Amino acid sequence: MIIAIDGPSAAGKGTIAGKIAAHFGYAHLDSGALYRAVALALLRAGREPSDAAAAVSAAEELDPEIMNEPAIRDQETGAAASLVAAIPEVRRALVHFQRDFASHPPGGAAGAVIDGRDIGTVVCPQADVKLFITATDEERARRRMLELKGRGEAHDYEEVLSEIQARDQRDIERETAPLKRAADALLLNTTNLDIEAAFQAALDLIKASRDGARSA
Ligand code: C5P
Repeated sequence: MIIAIDGPSAAGKGTIAGKIAAHFGYAHLDSGALYRAVALALLRAGREPSDAAAAVSAAEELDPEIMNEPAIRDQETGAAASLVAAIPEVRRALVHFQRDFASHPPGGAAGAVIDGRDIGTVVCPQADVKLFITATDEERARRRMLELKGRGEAHDYEEVLSEIQARDQRDIERETAPLKRAADALLLNTTNLDIEAAFQAALDLIKASRDGARSA
């Protein structure tokens, strides 16, 4: 069972994906963490995120351990991640890891939940269930502010909002694997939902989709 969850940043997809995975006993992969890890490796090496050759090497030599470092969640790392994510060879280097995770979930789990931008369209177009999770720009900026505040990072709301919008625009407009709702993805708007309500709504969509597939 493969569940693909895509959507723009701070729409709640990572938290929902984690809860869905825990609910069904499936493995969870936050694919954004892969791009963030490449970005962090580059920044630490003193290279620019736009340095394509260095970014491709960082992706090819990626040590998955770096995904566990708190610094991958920094605002600066996220912005750099969306720059390296636009480089086709970086995406190519990371797609194998994601497909392997989907077909052989770690720990022998019976399924995988992967969240990102192109999981339902490019990485796992054959996924059993696809969700596309959104929320308004303003609500996503508000959530990102809370997350950053929780990590002790103080930021201006307008600055966070424009960073989110710039990142979305790059993700939507890039040529390779842009952020896009798959034709068969179920839409979930979390603007007016708290995390528990959003999780329940996602669960209902997944169950309805599985029941529909079974009776088809
Ligand atoms: O989801 P998160 O904000 O952690 O992702 C960081 C960046 O990685 C995104 O802005 C996007 O550019 C990139 N990304 C991607 N494809 C994915 C997951 C993330 O391009 N499947």
